[in-house]
Amino acid sequence: MNRIQEFWKFGNSHIVFQEMLDLVYPRHCVVCGNTLWGKYEKYLCVHCFYDLPLLDFQDYTMKNEIGKVFWGRCNFEFCWGWMEYRSGSKTSDIIKELKYKGNPEIAHYLGTVMGESLIDLEYLKSHEVVLIPVPMSPEKRKKRGYNQTEEIAKGISKICGYEIQADLLERTVMRDSQTRMNRVSRFENMQGVFRFNSSEFQTRFDHKENLVDTSLLLIIVDDIITTGATIETCYHAINDNLKVKIGVCSLGLTNK
Ligand SMILES: [Zn+2]
Repeated sequence: MNRIQEFWKFGNSHIVFQEMLDLVYPRHCVVCGNTLWGKYEKYLCVHCFYDLPLLDFQDYTMKNEIGKVFWGRCNFEFCWGWMEYRSGSKTSDIIKELKYKGNPEIAHYLGTVMGESLIDLEYLKSHEVVLIPVPMSPEKRKKRGYNQTEEIAKGISKICGYEIQADLLERTVMRDSQTRMNRVSRFENMQGVFRFNSSEFQTRFDHKENLVDTSLLLIIVDDIITTGATIETCYHAINDNLKVKIGVCSLGLTNK
């Protein structure tokens, strides 16, 4: 990517300048392939964007659709997701783009869109939020070149100013792909995958093991929740080592 393309990707350009650039470097919607135009269309055309099945939660507790995935397994203080994920739909085109087509910028962009919704939530305003992106194994990260959950977290942070702690959890073992596993197999496959890395983070809190009564809220950030096994394992890796309020936030929730 050259410097001119870099410039428009982050939305700092004047609208006329953007339209001139679009003539020289046409951009295309990742879903329908139509040409994008102007500074307000980024990665998705306006039609595809407004057609996305957004979750639009009014309740951020365990009672919403994200929270229900974890009933009897985790106790989240905050549950939130942006869109419903449907296989073979526009939403799956977006996920393929950010996961498998080497496009971290779209993950960052969608993070900023999520941030625009999160910044208005009263519950979050009264907390010191720290984002914990679901870690990727070092092998996979090397292969892909980025971790999409970290890019989503950076986008959220850009809008909301939340701190990101990408090293609090460490992915220790490369496990088999979970795509074809059921919920129990997925959870068993994930056991012991995440290691809690306390030193640096806990120094700030004098190595206290109980921070439940503080305003601190750790939010685990993921791209797609399907069975919830990955998030569940992250939750236990934190909760077994540190008593603190924990939340979950995902770009997508698989429609079952
Ligand atoms: Zn489109």
